[in-house]
Amino acid sequence: MMGRHGWRAMVGSIAIAALMCTLAACGRAGMPAPVVIGGPALGSDAQHECVHVHESGQRQVLQLPAPPGGWSGHPQAVVVLNAISGEVDIRQRMRERCGTLEDARTLDSRFRAGVGTVLVPEAGDTAPIEIEYDARPLPLWRPIVQLGEPAPVQRADIVRFAIRVASLAVVLTLVMSALLSFVATRERVFLTYAGTTGLFAIWLTLLSGLWAWPRPWLPLAGYAVQALIGLGVALVGATTLALIRQSWLHRHAAGLERGARLAAWALVLAGLSAPFLPAAALAAMSVITELGLYVLAIAFAVASVIALWRRRSSGSLLAGVVPFLAVAAMQVLAPETLAMWKVEAFMLSGGWLALICSMVLTLRLGALRRQRDEMKRLAQTDALTGLPNRRAALECLAICIAAARASGAALTIVFVDLDHFKRINDSHGHDCGDRVLRHVARTLCAAFRSGDHVARIGGEEFLVILPGADPALARMRIESLRRMLSGAGAVLDGPGLHVTFSAGISALRPGDADGAALLQRADAAMYAAKHAGRDRTEMECPSAALAE
Ligand code: GH3
Ligand code: MG
Ligand code: MG
Repeated sequence: MMGRHGWRAMVGSIAIAALMCTLAACGRAGMPAPVVIGGPALGSDAQHECVHVHESGQRQVLQLPAPPGGWSGHPQAVVVLNAISGEVDIRQRMRERCGTLEDARTLDSRFRAGVGTVLVPEAGDTAPIEIEYDARPLPLWRPIVQLGEPAPVQRADIVRFAIRVASLAVVLTLVMSALLSFVATRERVFLTYAGTTGLFAIWLTLLSGLWAWPRPWLPLAGYAVQALIGLGVALVGATTLALIRQSWLHRHAAGLERGARLAAWALVLAGLSAPFLPAAALAAMSVITELGLYVLAIAFAVASVIALWRRRSSGSLLAGVVPFLAVAAMQVLAPETLAMWKVEAFMLSGGWLALICSMVLTLRLGALRRQRDEMKRLAQTDALTGLPNRRAALECLAICIAAARASGAALTIVFVDLDHFKRINDSHGHDCGDRVLRHVARTLCAAFRSGDHVARIGGEEFLVILPGADPALARMRIESLRRMLSGAGAVLDGPGLHVTFSAGISALRPGDADGAALLQRADAAMYAAKHAGRDRTEMECPSAALAE
């Protein structure tokens, strides 16, 4: 029969041999062959054919006039941002470039955040550059057109794209971290957070156009704007609910939370209805949601300031909504400046709020855990002496028995019962009895090693568990305890106070099913000490030992 160690050695040898063979094979093969992906190009993807499908009244044309004296003959970069739906057509005379933000394959690959191209009008030509795009589907998201020298325009476009990708990466990291926290803690709140933040990440891809890179990967079938607005509305509802739960309003205004829950569900339903709404209703919904978001940010900020004033909050909620306050202020005071960076501002503000929510969640769960640990500690601690109580002692004994069985080490326990303690109470008073119990507890801890476990398991009864010790060592310690306690009367200033105890010692035997038999033998030995006249230590019954 092969032992456990034999099997391990065999499996280990096979694994090492397999590794050596693999290394040897790699060595013989030399440099690995490069991997070729893709195939020959069959045509030019550079120029996307313009579709020119225009519903009447749905298109707007913007003219960028040539400078006085005509174009310089240098290349001109043109980028159109925020044209969320429909085809954008950039043209000058016969030169034309079309693309849609809903499919990156239609875009000029030199521009990533918007629909852009580089035109080279002839020197002296005065024909304007014309830009044709869908009439604004979202009133608060005005299209931005940038014209200039190609290199700086391209660099600005790359910065914009990088900010978008980075914001999305942060939010996705928060989703992953919440999922891992859920796996580690099984707290459902992390799952809820991961779900909501995951939806937020999808919304960010819709807002930034990243959902269309490198090709559209969401099955939206022409409903990108509806999805953007619908999901946005639903997320405002979900975030409102989450923020209320995290604020002091949750505890002090239950009615408000109920109302907010209803409002949140109404928003979720409104969001789901978005695909069926006409363009005008959709535009109205987007405006109402955005303004509602600003009002909510202000309301939460005011509530946070009040909570901070009353010292009911740490201000984390305020920190979370501050960027939205800045966006709201910009929308009122400098809408044109905001429009330039509105997508990025929303992505960064939303990412920041998600980060703060994640932090608050972790802190709150940490506090709950600490509270739970403290309650457990209190439930296992004796209030008078600060020693572990009976329940903790029995748990500890079970653990020590398992460890002793696994390592084959000895385990001895000592049962200590104070002699005539009732008399001490009767003649010196209950308070003095309490002081004696505390003094005995302190002396017990001093008399035994740091690895031993001392517990108060009854009124004037104590248990000591000595892992790795034999009964002789236990007896030695208990006798030193007896000497230490002989001066208790003087220490406690109790004239005529004598503190003695009877002790019973037992050691773990291979046949012990659990701690009960061990305890029962120590208890019997202690009673034997009582019957023999008290103030002494008895070992467990030898006949019981022989019977094993
Ligand atoms: P024996 O030597 O046979 O053990 O006698 P005893 O008096 O020590 O034992 P008995 O079980 O008769 O009495 C135990 C006493 O311990 C009774 C109870 O009032 C007292 N006691 C139990 N818990 C406390 C406590 O927390 N504080 C004080 N002061 N007394 C306690
Ligand atoms: Mg007793
Ligand atoms: Mg007693």
